[in-house]
Amino acid sequence: MKRAIYPGSFDPVTFGHIDMIERSAKIVDELVVAVLNNSAKNPLFSVKERVSMLEEITSHLPNVKITFFDGLLIDYARKIDAAIIIRGLRAITDFEYELQLAQTNRIVDSRVDTIFLTTSLEYAYLSSTIVKEVASYGGDISHFVPEQLMERIYQKYAEVQNPKGAQNF
Ligand code: ADP
Repeated sequence: MKRAIYPGSFDPVTFGHIDMIERSAKIVDELVVAVLNNSAKNPLFSVKERVSMLEEITSHLPNVKITFFDGLLIDYARKIDAAIIIRGLRAITDFEYELQLAQTNRIVDSRVDTIFLTTSLEYAYLSSTIVKEVASYGGDISHFVPEQLMERIYQKYAEVQNPKGAQNF
């Protein structure tokens, strides 16, 4: 059985990620979408929230499983017996870092290979950072994320920008 891992922050998941998940799920037998639990990145959504959003939007894909991990990706890939790491390439700017990462991982464990999928053109510009930037100003994010997640994202900004007990001056 070919098991692959698609790691990322998914803070929040976008149509770009969903496109990658749907395409990867057709290539491998099982796809494990793994949310990186990295507090140093100062995520907007908790790991639990990110996992739950991913579960909702992938419920139509029977061979996709959502998990989370701490620490090194290669260790987690080995732990769950995944021989393939899937990463997305949007632009040339992604390439240098991704190449280094893939080569480092292969030095650590040559049984684990990285497969790159190039972004679908309509999502080439899209990143979680863009979604957060637009949402933080209350802008329209309907082109970036599924409708069922939109309210949660605006709500999160409402909480962050106006935490309970905070005084408005
Ligand atoms: P990370 O913090 O690991 O970059 P992201 O959640 O931003 O996590 O991205 C996870 C993976 O999805 C990365 O391989 C990234 O290149 C890919 N990705 C993100 N946005 C897109 C997109 N619009 N099209 C294709 N791949 C994407």
